[in-house]
Amino acid sequence: MEEILKVVEGQREYFLTGKTRDFSFRKKALEKLRQNIIDMKGEIFEALKKDLNKSEEESYMTEVGLTLSEISYMLKKGRKFSRRKKVHLSFSQFPAKGYKVPVPYGCVLVISPWNYPFMLAIEPIVDAITAGNCVILKPSEISPNVSEVVKKLIEKTFERGHVDVVLGGKEECTYLLDQDFDYIFYTGSTRVGKIVMQKASEHFTPLTLELGGKCPCIVDESADLRMSARRIVFGKFLNSGQTCVAPDYVYCASSIKDRLVEELKREINRQYGDALNNEKYPRMINLKQFNVMKGFINDENLIFGGKSDEKTLKIQPTLISSTFESEAMQDEIFGPILPIVTFDSLDECEENIRRYPKPLALYIFSKDKKVQRRFAINCDFGGGCINDTIMHITDSRLGFGGIKQSGMGAYHGKAGFDTFTHYKSIVKKGKLDLPMRYQPITKSKYKIIKMFLK
Ligand code: NAD
Repeated sequence: MEEILKVVEGQREYFLTGKTRDFSFRKKALEKLRQNIIDMKGEIFEALKKDLNKSEEESYMTEVGLTLSEISYMLKKGRKFSRRKKVHLSFSQFPAKGYKVPVPYGCVLVISPWNYPFMLAIEPIVDAITAGNCVILKPSEISPNVSEVVKKLIEKTFERGHVDVVLGGKEECTYLLDQDFDYIFYTGSTRVGKIVMQKASEHFTPLTLELGGKCPCIVDESADLRMSARRIVFGKFLNSGQTCVAPDYVYCASSIKDRLVEELKREINRQYGDALNNEKYPRMINLKQFNVMKGFINDENLIFGGKSDEKTLKIQPTLISSTFESEAMQDEIFGPILPIVTFDSLDECEENIRRYPKPLALYIFSKDKKVQRRFAINCDFGGGCINDTIMHITDSRLGFGGIKQSGMGAYHGKAGFDTFTHYKSIVKKGKLDLPMRYQPITKSKYKIIKMFLK
């Protein structure tokens, strides 16, 4: 642990040098990171293959490519974000100028999970350094090959003290959480999120929690079932369902269930074929997760799929029939099992969604604009799509984050810059001012004060 303490202390000293206050410095660091990711992409793909059996194509689309596009966006917009913003003040301030001055928090702790082990480690760093912070990253011990490559990339790219990596598991993470950071950014389970929040309160450290939950995917009677099925299968079985914003379950009108199931089966076959022997189909991260997934499948509820291979840790894309009381509906699934739950009316659907904990994402498949609007507005969730899945997290122009049990705060693009920034409010006064605030406050001054402040 002494080594970790040295890294933390080194980082505090580094921040005090003030190097990161200059946007040109941040820009150079972002450019170097971009180039080094491109140079090391072979190693990154290899590590993702080892940890999760991700194919190069999926790894580029969901990890490397998304990270590069966040860097490109910050290179384009970061300087503008970093400028002080002029604020037009009220007449009572006359004559004065007002500014909001963005400043970095300082030393940031980023804790990342195993499911998108590259993207979820590097993207928060991109946003944090664009805003001028120093970062210590604690990647997941459960995806060790990617964590090693990430460490190599960071050490090749950044000066020690600017961005550092601490490898390890619960023990190392707890030790880091005991230190006094200026900001904590955590991605992972709700259970550990609670621990992180408690630890942050010890030092009054502001934090962002990017958590999980059960993301519903509503399909109503008017939906284009073929298109819905294609997009649901894409979002659900990407990374074998180990995606925080994957549709956790389909919640469809009972009248269309059979037709939707037929379309889902057809799409699974079209997109994955013989999934267990498809070398591009990702596996479960470990035997524990593999067994948890298998436990959700039984003879009574199985609609489609259900086969698995313990040697490769792969599970077929699987459809099961469920109700809100089923075992698979009690917690986030985080694997390639898709429960199909039905409703008889939109009122019933809305009521059940609103009774459940607030999800990270919600998807609505419907041609009816009133239905689209109704669910987008009435239900609480982090973010989502109408007639699609997952795509809302892929654009730096949209912030991404959860609400309550699914998280707090957001990142990506401007939302990410703001997360890692404190805005100082500054009033700049000239020699002149309105004298009514100075003691003694006479009757006439008091009258003027009341004119201004109402
Ligand atoms: P996890 O909470 O087990 O681990 C995340 C990190 O916390 C790891 O770096 C780990 O070392 C550390 N950690 C684990 N236990 C700890 C403890 N007791 N004390 C201190 N640190 C500890 O999460 P996971 O299993 O890696 O990730 C899966 C979860 O993350 C799912 O619930 C998923 O929905 C969620 N998730 C959310 C997002 C998002 O962006 N909102 C993205 C990916 C995953």
